[in-house]
Amino acid sequence: MKLREFQDRIEAHYGERDRSRGVDATFRWLVEEVGELARALREGDPRRLEEEIGDVLAWTVTVASLCGVDAAQAAERYASGCPKCGSTPCACPPDVRMPAASRAAARQLRSRSVRTDRRAG
Ligand SMILES: [Zn+2]
Repeated sequence: MKLREFQDRIEAHYGERDRSRGVDATFRWLVEEVGELARALREGDPRRLEEEIGDVLAWTVTVASLCGVDAAQAAERYASGCPKCGSTPCACPPDVRMPAASRAAARQLRSRSVRTDRRAG
């Protein structure tokens, strides 16, 4: 299924309900689904992972629809390589796709595990 078609189907299935709920509450549903995806990743059940990824995609295109964003158009950002460096595969430093707060958290985790390794060694 093409992304445009997916967004249209989700809009047909739930559009009226989504519009009455509003973008803020719908965004909170998306965040909750991301949490469910995190749990599925920890559990490692492939069927559940596929389900949760489907749900995250559905809620993501729902938020897009409520904001007047065409998800397929938004995905075009990645169509001809990494949006930052323009290369395929990406030639950016390893964690450039992460938001700044996540990069800081990842650095902190790495330095913590390095310290643990040193203690162990
Ligand atoms: Zn890149």
